[in-house]
Amino acid sequence: MEAVHIKIHGIVQGVGFRPFMHRLVRCYGLAGAIRNTSSGVELELEGEREALEAFVQALPERAPRLALIEKIETEYGLPPLGRQGFQILQSHREEKRNTLVSPDLGICEDCRRELLDPGDRRYRYPFINCTNCGPRFTIIKDLPYDRPLTSMGRFPMCPDCEREYHDIENRRYHAQPDACPVCGPKVCFLDGEGRELPGDPIETARAWLKEGKILAVKGLGGVHLACLAQREDLVRELRRRKERDEKPFAIMCRDVQAAEALCYVSPKERELLESFHKPIVLLRRRDRGPSPLTENGWLGVMLPYTPLHVLLFGEDLEALVMTSANLSDTPIVYQNGEALERLRGIADGFLLHDRDIQTRCDDSLCWERGGKEYFVRRSRGYVPFPVRVPGSHGGILACGAEQKASFCLSRGEYLFPRPHIGGLKNAETLAHYEQQIAHFERLFDTRPQLLVCDRHPDYLSTAYALQRGEKEGIEVLQVQHHHAHMASCMADNGLAGPVIGLIWDGVGYGEDGGAWGGECLVGDYRSFRRFGSLRPIPLIGGDRAVKEISRVGFALLQDAGCDTRGVQNAPFFETMLRQGLNCPPSSGMGRLFDGAAAILGIRESVSYEGQGAVLLEAAAEEDEGVYPFCLAGSPLCFDWRDMIRAMVKDRDAGLSAGRIASRFMNTLVQMAAETALAASRETGIRDVVLSGGSFQNQYLLDRLPGALEQAGLRPWTHQRVSCNDEGLSLGQVMIGEHRFEV
Ligand SMILES: [Zn+2]
Ligand SMILES: [Zn+2]
Repeated sequence: MEAVHIKIHGIVQGVGFRPFMHRLVRCYGLAGAIRNTSSGVELELEGEREALEAFVQALPERAPRLALIEKIETEYGLPPLGRQGFQILQSHREEKRNTLVSPDLGICEDCRRELLDPGDRRYRYPFINCTNCGPRFTIIKDLPYDRPLTSMGRFPMCPDCEREYHDIENRRYHAQPDACPVCGPKVCFLDGEGRELPGDPIETARAWLKEGKILAVKGLGGVHLACLAQREDLVRELRRRKERDEKPFAIMCRDVQAAEALCYVSPKERELLESFHKPIVLLRRRDRGPSPLTENGWLGVMLPYTPLHVLLFGEDLEALVMTSANLSDTPIVYQNGEALERLRGIADGFLLHDRDIQTRCDDSLCWERGGKEYFVRRSRGYVPFPVRVPGSHGGILACGAEQKASFCLSRGEYLFPRPHIGGLKNAETLAHYEQQIAHFERLFDTRPQLLVCDRHPDYLSTAYALQRGEKEGIEVLQVQHHHAHMASCMADNGLAGPVIGLIWDGVGYGEDGGAWGGECLVGDYRSFRRFGSLRPIPLIGGDRAVKEISRVGFALLQDAGCDTRGVQNAPFFETMLRQGLNCPPSSGMGRLFDGAAAILGIRESVSYEGQGAVLLEAAAEEDEGVYPFCLAGSPLCFDWRDMIRAMVKDRDAGLSAGRIASRFMNTLVQMAAETALAASRETGIRDVVLSGGSFQNQYLLDRLPGALEQAGLRPWTHQRVSCNDEGLSLGQVMIGEHRFEV
């Protein structure tokens, strides 16, 4: 007999780790105690050496699905104290401070089995859950994470549920949202007028869907609008009723087989679809023809992630549109009354329930890359799980940007990014943003000592930081937009810098007050310099050119000395340009894509930011060609005029828009590699981070890292947060961390 002292570092609190330990300790016939510490947990165990070692070996494999074990330290050969059983030592204060709030988890296999087992007491109960699955973040009002402080507070447990809850051997031990048909929440079905219909609500909803109706369905983090995905007429009707732009709709498929009927699914993509995070995964469509679901070659697909979804699909439904019920950039609808009021005339019927959603949370959106998620939006299923950055000190609130407004709160080494909640331009989103910041500060028991925000003077997030800083006497640091993107990708990959940053997006406020967005930066968390950029593009009419991209196309043609007579309103644009009337220059990569899309006749105007790039990528056809271009000056300027001239020549010679689109993007890849190589030659730096919304372009992402490697450089892409403005607050925190260092 001997004792061992074990220290486990990582994310092991608030993830069901201690009951798991209890079972594992018993399973190996050991005795001892466990307690939480500031960096993880500590155990003292006694038993035979062999059993102790086997226990330690089994730990990483058998740990709960949310646990993230980073390091296990052991000290064997200590004198045994003759302990009996297994004790969980508590320290309440510590607990509140260190407990992590779990994300919402997709239904687990055990619960699915019970759900469909006629002999089980939770047979067909749409709120079945356990320690390994169910709602978490979205039902929590406050900490400590106990039932009374969640939406489940109004559902006292029945004796059967109570017994399971207190039985450490049971898989529902301390599962706060646990419930059953006797004691838990209930579903209801209402017609378009808000009248509750008798009968089985789920069966009614299924019948209505099959008849071709559009329903509002309350999920985990908000309400979806649902209809049969394969009925094009219904999908068009839903678009019409939603009065929404042309953004793609996500769909939910009954299972992977149903997804495979519509899309190619690799084994890795399958893993991601079936993971407990249950994100929307962007998959390649089998049928590349036009579809009212999406205007590009990808389809966002997710699998049923709540028991309610499982029952809704039953045996016979294959695929449903499941799009967030929100109206033009306002946050997703999440309360029953709100749904009935705001979705009247949009939804024919409502499948709702009485378990309140406390915090809205949109579905996560990603694609598979190297076996992992590459996020467009990191939200439901992930949030509020932290990103750990060793060496951070905490106490910083980073306020993000404006479009895709997000924020990030740091507590010690844990950084808690909150996913984007829409553009901040409207009052409703701003109110939601401020309320979410307050909620996070309470949940993580952290009051910021430093506020970090963008340098853009007109961003509402900047105004929020400045006002709050003044009111509460907190220091405020303003950070350049693309520097924050670069820092975000560094932190995401654990790089200390210095690095070369290829930061491409639509627009960000530059050091010189100009609109930047096609940047090559060199620097680290402390500082940066602009090594290279795009030849600026005049935006005819300012912001109007962001929507009416034919204006950008005109400006490119004019600057390149090409014939502009084919462009509508050409004389008017020319006058504006000549007189310099409201034509602010922009070096945004998004604008170059927009202009190229316009020149190729793909579109004259767009309905959402980045659409030009999306359509150009969707149009791309196999072609290895590269256009001529010029890199010169300091900062190194990418002069795209030769490229534009060559594109026009190809177009006029009758080459397809798809092949020109490929050549255009190939040219950007080559330009980026040459720019980075020039920066590397001058500075000796070899690490190159890729960040900014333009790196949601799979075509670029498939080719640029390889081109950089070929040039002898080390490319780094995002892993844990999005490359777009949603992920930028992570970089803001890191720049804040280093503000005192010179
Ligand atoms: Zn479960
Ligand atoms: Zn019960």
